[in-house]
Amino acid sequence: MSAVKMDGKALSAKVRGSILAETEKLKAQGITPGLAVIIVGNDPASEIYVRNKEKACVECGFYSEKYALPEETTEEQLLGLIAQLNESPQISGILCQMPVPKHISEQAVIDAIDPRKDVDAFHPVNVGKIMVGNFDFVPCTPAGVMELLEEYKIDPKGKECVVIGRSNIVGKPMSMLLLHKHGTVTICHSRTKDLAEVCRRADILVAAVGKAGFVTPDMVKEGAVVIDVGINRNAEGKVCGDVDAAVLDKASFMTPVPGGAGPMTITMLMKNTLKAAKVQRGISE
Ligand code: NAD
Repeated sequence: MSAVKMDGKALSAKVRGSILAETEKLKAQGITPGLAVIIVGNDPASEIYVRNKEKACVECGFYSEKYALPEETTEEQLLGLIAQLNESPQISGILCQMPVPKHISEQAVIDAIDPRKDVDAFHPVNVGKIMVGNFDFVPCTPAGVMELLEEYKIDPKGKECVVIGRSNIVGKPMSMLLLHKHGTVTICHSRTKDLAEVCRRADILVAAVGKAGFVTPDMVKEGAVVIDVGINRNAEGKVCGDVDAAVLDKASFMTPVPGGAGPMTITMLMKNTLKAAKVQRGISE
């Protein structure tokens, strides 16, 4: 048996289409969602991400502003720009591409963004809201995974869900979202004992490790749903995930890399920006 490939590219196009339709309705009421994207320095991977975010804004009919700041920008200058954007009525969402240069505190940047404009959902206020289960913004990568599960009618309720990775941007929020959907969630990390045994319990296995080929068939239960969040480069320089291709023969559903969880991430950023524009104007639906 070969797993059904969960097509994040197709779902992403569908969701962006519905965001554009909603944006057009909002524009008719004089409201245009606006996203400000800040990039500091010239990390090539970050530049690609930022370009894709700008493209997505165009596709969704949003207004966008891009701030490409030099590497030597001070923390004070960056926080000054964020303060300005917090006040800007044209801007619904603010995103500062991580990582920032080492002389700038990542946490200070996260803390400076108005939680109502924090479309990455990294601010402690939004992190707390996710914990409580009453949130407007969901971190983009885990949100994309949840949409993929829904699209393929995979309900986490009562299922054993194992998340490998405990980062603030993927592993932890992923676990909370699965828990809110009534999954029985186990979070694994670099110090987990008998990782393979824990993973074999999973009906839904999410890999967010950052190591090519990390999840091998012996770690996967027959018929499990396997979500590969990893973005790595293999020895030939090709983009690949955390899950070995041989797992396809064991899983029932699996996300390919590229084309699975990845494309959904930026789409969820757009969804959060649309939501921000609405919430800021007291529109609930
Ligand atoms: P991270 O480095 O912050 O976290 C990696 C996690 O893996 C850690 O919690 C660590 O404990 C765990 N880990 C490392 N070695 C392990 C081991 N031997 N056994 C068990 N656990 C182990 O990474 P991150 O930011 O969470 O990203 C994870 C992966 O997801 C990366 O490949 C990243 O590129 C990718 N990613 C993809 C998207 C997307 O849009 N699809 C978004 C963010 C991150």
